[in-house]
Amino acid sequence: MMLQIEIDHLNKHYGGFHALKDVNISIKQGSFVALVGPSGCGKSTLLRTLAGLEKTSSGDVRIAGRSVIGKPPRERDVAMVFQSYALYPHMDVEHNMNYSMRLKRRPKEEISERTRTAAETLGLGNLLDRLPKALSGGQRQRVAMGRAIVRNPKVFLFDEPLSNLDAALRVHMRSEIRKLHERLNATSVYVTHDQVEAMTMADHVVVMRAGVVEQQGSPLDLYDRPANRFVAGFIGSPAMNFLPATATENGALVLDNDSTQIGLNRHIAAGCKFWIGMRPEHLSLKPCVNDMAIDATVTGIESTGSMTFVVLEVASQPVVLAHSGRPETRRGDQVRLHISLDNLHLFDRETELAA
Ligand code: ATP
Repeated sequence: MMLQIEIDHLNKHYGGFHALKDVNISIKQGSFVALVGPSGCGKSTLLRTLAGLEKTSSGDVRIAGRSVIGKPPRERDVAMVFQSYALYPHMDVEHNMNYSMRLKRRPKEEISERTRTAAETLGLGNLLDRLPKALSGGQRQRVAMGRAIVRNPKVFLFDEPLSNLDAALRVHMRSEIRKLHERLNATSVYVTHDQVEAMTMADHVVVMRAGVVEQQGSPLDLYDRPANRFVAGFIGSPAMNFLPATATENGALVLDNDSTQIGLNRHIAAGCKFWIGMRPEHLSLKPCVNDMAIDATVTGIESTGSMTFVVLEVASQPVVLAHSGRPETRRGDQVRLHISLDNLHLFDRETELAA
């Protein structure tokens, strides 16, 4: 499979601030890649670097095999869809969509043909003469996408395009964007701080923190095999629970602040300190396969209707349990918490790496 984008040892400095640190990402033609991470981690900077809106400090970016370093945005064959949509308020939908083609003085027939096709693809056919102020948020978002589509680019770049929409529309537009990506056989790079969005839309997720790529892989790969504590805590909702523990002489783990021992089927060196990682959905108030039980106190219950999140105190630490349905338990109850041993994660407390 051909590589559409290669980001090769890329660094970006803003004065003395190192915003992107030796970033390496290979993106196949036709794939949908999400850049995800907390605010300030550098995901927008990376996207803007691909678009040609930021200069790089060192390293290379290749699109369809050619280095684009030093090339202006219009020579890169990429189209960017912004969070703010960046629509021209005085232009109707049609003119917003075909602005770039008019700027390039493309033939009239080509302009109207491409605009019509894009409008049909996006279900905007009957809104072409509306001004942006007379559109809903979702419709504006579609116009912004239409503007990218008419340019027929090699690569689509999305900078948090759904963050101004309400929750229901956001979920709907996620699948619309994904379908569009497939229909156009496009290559897409999508920035979001929302790990659920990244997990549900992308084939390949890149998790960033403080300018560094912490891990990249398929969504389920990151979920099942997080490389370090940061990725483990960032991917998954509600977040993974972490309990501090220390390895004993006989190869078990004993929880700090508690005498509970957890026997593991693997060798660990005595005295090593770990975080035990437990996903909320791998905890239960009832016995399960290959589990161990531990005393806990219920300190809170939150229900979404279909799911219930039970907040517990275990060895003086808060732990969240996810239960599909409605468990018969109340705040203040003393319970036995069952932990599925097959699904535990271990992280070295010094390096934070998966052990
Ligand atoms: P957010 O989700 O909040 O948009 P982000 O991950 O997209 O965050 P960036 O916008 O890429 O983060 O910013 C990365 C870091 O670089 C931040 O610490 C930011 O303050 C810094 N930065 C961004 N642009 C500049 C600039 N023009 N000059 C100096 N520092 C900058």
